[in-house]
Amino acid sequence: MSHTVRNVLVVNAGSSSLKFMLFDMSQERMLAKGQVERIGIGDALFTFSTEGFSEKQTPCEAPNHAAAIRLACDALTAPAKGGCLKSFADIDAVGHRIVHGGEKYSKPVRLDEHALKEIEKLSPLAPLHNPGALQGIRGCEQVLPGVPHVAVFDTAFHQTMPEESYLYALPRELHDKLGVRKYGFHGTSHRFVTERAAEILGKPSDQVNLVTCHLGNGSSITAVKGGKCFDTSMGMTPLAGVVMGTRSGDVDPAIAFYLMKNGYSADDVDALFNKQGGVKALCGSSDMRDVCSACEAGNRDAQVALARLVHSYAMYVGGYVALLGRTDAIILTGGIGENSWETRQAFLKALSGLGITLDEAANRATRGVEATISGKDSAIPVIVVPTNEELMIARETFTILNP
Ligand code: ADP
Repeated sequence: MSHTVRNVLVVNAGSSSLKFMLFDMSQERMLAKGQVERIGIGDALFTFSTEGFSEKQTPCEAPNHAAAIRLACDALTAPAKGGCLKSFADIDAVGHRIVHGGEKYSKPVRLDEHALKEIEKLSPLAPLHNPGALQGIRGCEQVLPGVPHVAVFDTAFHQTMPEESYLYALPRELHDKLGVRKYGFHGTSHRFVTERAAEILGKPSDQVNLVTCHLGNGSSITAVKGGKCFDTSMGMTPLAGVVMGTRSGDVDPAIAFYLMKNGYSADDVDALFNKQGGVKALCGSSDMRDVCSACEAGNRDAQVALARLVHSYAMYVGGYVALLGRTDAIILTGGIGENSWETRQAFLKALSGLGITLDEAANRATRGVEATISGKDSAIPVIVVPTNEELMIARETFTILNP
């Protein structure tokens, strides 16, 4: 590296959207954020904010990802929009979020042609995500050439899982030839809250044993042993594990064959399990705010959906507490974990068999902030830790460039 890295732009690109956040890593401070929606499909929209400026969903021209990132960089250097940067040259590095790093990447990687080809080879494992991220990288490289670009993978944190966690009980050749195994997702978030929880608990991060619960539209629960992932609830794809907003989570896989023998196509089954399943299938809404207010109003379907949801969470937590032997804390994060006191209350009640108790007042008062919500007598403390995946990507980008 010829220059010191200070300003890191974090980019999370999908096939038709690009979210970005700029950090000053000398203070780990977020300077600006925004997103471009509807890239390449017409009627594109731009959203941007800095400390003193905000614009929401303004029409813009974004025929491709390069145009989208140019809009972002123009805004970042526009004095009228908060003026965080003088010129594009003030962006020292770009950190890209990549969903799937397969077995190849257990750490972030500085991008070059070789790494880009490797990520492209992993696209069959994440057909909805990796191709869009690659378009994002190519676009950013056009607009910001000569700047180091780093890929940070959602799967990387989970690469420490032992075979007993990641192997499915299926013929080995499926793993060897087709990559069929558990990978796990949300790794950047599980890693962020693991590091923060270690600080809160006053332990070195390589000595903490945790169950980290990232609960949002997509949810996953991870057993962290000695600061590393030991097992996680999502699988080869983000469909497995706990019940989610529109994803079924674990189901008997034979249901898929049964449906296909009864006239459903593979795509129908995919859509049923990924988009029409989960809490939405059980009570009509995938948003826990709606579900919890319907519960309060006495809606039976919503009550069953909430009970089914926390039942699935508790089964993973119970299993992981057993596997870990010693659990220092259970960590809750993500939109639901950070904000939905009703869901947390039902969840902790479902864990009472583990000697976990609830501090009702603390739980009700906690929204989007760090707090312990278990009672003083709880066998395991339960702590809410807001996640910050973008900051984690910026940190990882910074670290790899300033070893
Ligand atoms: P994603 O997985 O898409 O990143 P989030 O982590 O933002 O999703 O989580 C979305 C979920 O969080 C939704 O079910 C939403 O209802 C829930 N949520 C967000 N804010 C609140 C809130 N204030 N109260 C209750 N639930 C909330």
